[in-house]
Amino acid sequence: MISGPADLVVTGARLRSGPVVDVHCAGGRVTALAPAGELPAPPGAVVVEADGGLVTEPFVDAHLHLDKVRTLPLIGDAALQAYTADGMTGSARGIDLARAVKAHYSVDRLLPAIRQALADGERHGVLHVQAFADVDTAAGLVGVQAVLTAREEFRGRVDVSVVAFPQDGVLRDPGAAGLVEEALAIGADVVGGIPWTEESAAEQEAHVEWACALAARLGRRVAMLTDDAPDPAFDTTRMLAVAMRRHGLAGRGVACHARALGHYEPARQTAVLELAREVGLGLVSDPHTGSVALPVERAVALGLAVALGQDDIEDAYYPFGRHSLLEVAFLAAHLLDMRTGPQQEVLVDLVTTSAARVLGLAGYGLRAGGPADLLVHDAGRTVDLLARHAAPRVVLRAGRVLG
Ligand SMILES: [Zn+2]
Repeated sequence: MISGPADLVVTGARLRSGPVVDVHCAGGRVTALAPAGELPAPPGAVVVEADGGLVTEPFVDAHLHLDKVRTLPLIGDAALQAYTADGMTGSARGIDLARAVKAHYSVDRLLPAIRQALADGERHGVLHVQAFADVDTAAGLVGVQAVLTAREEFRGRVDVSVVAFPQDGVLRDPGAAGLVEEALAIGADVVGGIPWTEESAAEQEAHVEWACALAARLGRRVAMLTDDAPDPAFDTTRMLAVAMRRHGLAGRGVACHARALGHYEPARQTAVLELAREVGLGLVSDPHTGSVALPVERAVALGLAVALGQDDIEDAYYPFGRHSLLEVAFLAAHLLDMRTGPQQEVLVDLVTTSAARVLGLAGYGLRAGGPADLLVHDAGRTVDLLARHAAPRVVLRAGRVLG
């Protein structure tokens, strides 16, 4: 337990729950949340004046294709067109076309944009990122190597969890499964998957089984892209939940996209969501990168861990993105029809506390004894936080001011 005087105090910090407090920090931890003015800052402590602005936990990006950042100019709009057109009915074709980018892959070519994305995120208070890095027979481990290099450069500022992600499948791309194991051996953290793009339901099952068996054997988490199309025939979110239970992976899995869930009839949708909750399968939605989304509010109401993710930054799937999770939440407010005060609070949860649940982040949270990782915002109300979606005024990591 930390003792001794605070070495940094954030004064006049408005919590999202309402009270205005002084946040005392020492040794990289929060030591006290005291009513404003009650506990004076010790001599020599750094004082950050929040002045009634909201103080929140750092943002968590539960899904970002980090190796692909700013690769769209390399291949033009053909894949983007196929992925998004006609209500996403051709999204699988978009993924096939996006493969062309691999001809341009080298660590040196990818690294500057990766660094920029993490630096942009840091400026916007995104201090935890689940980064998907492609692993396939076209580019080998180049994407993973670039992302791992950046992870080390940002260590201590931005936490990057690297998913070894077989973007072109494992049955459709023989050799990719072995590369995923190699990626894990050189430092990737999480077993990735994309079962819905395999050719048949049996092969989709086989893909899920392969990934979950590997994760169980190596003691890793799994993170998959499931059912990224508006077609209720897709069933890989449920397959993933069932396989997690089979392999003892409760609480250690994430399904991203899962857009087909939004097209299930209500009883089936509820059954899959309840199964996901039971096995601790977290969901990540990214409604700005396509015209269909998983039923976010329904999942939240049922008690699932749900997050919003940036997903893409100027790549074959999405042409924008600043790595601002408040911007993502602001877009989601419109795309998911979530505008009321209580819905605004949920939106902020989806990029902070709820996203931390999705990733199983130990110790995350703004409380005495928690990490001194804090954002000081100019906005004093949640509605302004979302409406302005501005970068925080101050980003604190382990009690130190970043930037
Ligand atoms: Zn994605």
